[in-house]
Amino acid sequence: MGLIVQKFGGTSVGTPERIRQVAKRIAKRHSEGHPLVVVVSAMGHTTDELIALAQQVSDHPAHREMDMLLSAGERISMALLSMALGDIKVPALSLTGSQSGIITDQSHRRARIRRILGDRIRSALAEKKVVIVAGFQGVSETKEITTLGRGGSDTSAVALATALGAERCEIFTDVNGVYSADPRVVPSAILWEKIPHDLMVELATRGAGVLHPRCVELAKQHQIQLCVKNTLDPNESVGTVLIQRQTGDSSLGMEEFGIVGVTADKGKLFIRVKLTRSTVLGSVWDRSAEAHLSLIAPVFSNHDVSFYSERDGESDWKKLLHDLTTEGFVQSYEIVSDVVPLSIIGDRFSQDGRALHEIIEVLSQAHIPVDSGSSSALAVTLGVSIRHVDDAVRALHAEFLES
Ligand code: ADP
Ligand code: ASP
Ligand code: MG
Repeated sequence: MGLIVQKFGGTSVGTPERIRQVAKRIAKRHSEGHPLVVVVSAMGHTTDELIALAQQVSDHPAHREMDMLLSAGERISMALLSMALGDIKVPALSLTGSQSGIITDQSHRRARIRRILGDRIRSALAEKKVVIVAGFQGVSETKEITTLGRGGSDTSAVALATALGAERCEIFTDVNGVYSADPRVVPSAILWEKIPHDLMVELATRGAGVLHPRCVELAKQHQIQLCVKNTLDPNESVGTVLIQRQTGDSSLGMEEFGIVGVTADKGKLFIRVKLTRSTVLGSVWDRSAEAHLSLIAPVFSNHDVSFYSERDGESDWKKLLHDLTTEGFVQSYEIVSDVVPLSIIGDRFSQDGRALHEIIEVLSQAHIPVDSGSSSALAVTLGVSIRHVDDAVRALHAEFLES
C-alpha cells in the first residue's frame, strides 16, 4: 500500500483529548497497512502565545531566536502524539524538521525548503513505525533552525509527500474543506468538492487561511494528490480535492468555474512607495524577494508603487524601505496598517470590464469606502479598512455567490 502523509492543524491537536483522538484515527489507518507520515502543527494558539511571550521580553526579538522559540510549539505536539500512539501500542517515532532532514535556506521566519533528505523517516517507515514530523520548521545548511512562515505546516506536509513519493497528502483542519468564503465570516458559504490549483493558489495567497499558498503550488508542480478534511468528521469524508486543469479535457479543462470565493486578509497591510525614478522599481522587488516578503496585488503608476504584504513583516519593511531611502532609490513611503486586501477570485472574472464597477457599486451601497483596486486574470483586489472588511466580504458574497 502507498504512503500517505497526513497533516493535523492546531485545532486538531489543541487538547490532550484531541491528541488521543488523532492517535486513534492514525492507529486505524496504520492497521489497514498504510505507511504513514504525520505532520503536526503547534497545539491550539501556541504559536500566537509564543509570539506574545517574545514581545513581553523584547521589543525587537532577533529572527533567529524567534525561530528557536516558535519551532518549540510543533515539537510539543509531535512528542505528545507519539506518546499517545505508544499508549495504544502503535509504534511511532517523532522527529523535528531538522532530524527529518528538511533543509531550508537561511531566511529566518520565512524560510523556503530547498530539499528533504528524509533518511531517518525512511528507516523508521521500514521498521513499520508511524513517523510524526514537527511541521513549519527545518534547518539551514549552516545548521540553524528555521521556520517556514505562518501556516507553514501545510507546506511541510506537501513537501514531505513530494520527497517521499507519497500516494497522497491529506490536510485535516477544523472546517469541512475549502469554502467560497471563510465560513466563520459567512455562515452560508459554499463548500467546494473540487477546486483547481490555480484558483486555490489565488484564494490562499489572498487570505483563505485554510491552506498555505506554497503547499498548493508544490502540489500542482509535483502532481501530489491533495485534499482537505474535517478532523471532527469520524468518517473522514473528503471535503475538497485539489484538481489539475487539463487543457482539452472537456470535463475540466474547458470548464468555467466562475467566481469561487471572496476573501479578506487581516494578516496583511498596505504599503505605498514613491520612487526617485521609475527605473529603480527593480530594487524594491529584489530586496523584498531576498527577504521573502510578499508583494500582493502590486499597482504601479509613474513613480508610485503600492502593494500588500505580511503584517508580521512590518518591521522588516520599515528597515528595507529606510535603507532604500538612504541609498537614493525611494523618495518616501507609507505603511497603512488599517487597510487590508479584499479579493474576489474567479475564472475569467476580471476580464469582464464591468466586474470592478459592479464590485465598487455593491460596496458603495453597503457604505464601505474603498482605498484602491487592482485586477489580474483570476482576481480583483481592493483595499478596505480592517474595520469594515467582514461586512464587505458578506456583501460581496451575497451579491456574487448567493444570488
Ligand atoms: P489549521 O490549524 O488546521 O491549519 P487554520 O486556522 O490554519 O487551521 O485554517 C483553517 C481556518 O481557515 C478555518 O477555521 C477558517 O476559519 C479559515 N478559512 C478562511 N478562509 C477559508 C475558506 N475559504 N475556506 C475554509 N476555511 C477558511
Ligand atoms: N504553528 C504555525 C502557525 O501557527 C504553523 C502552522 O500552524 O501551520 O502559523
Ligand atoms: Mg493552517
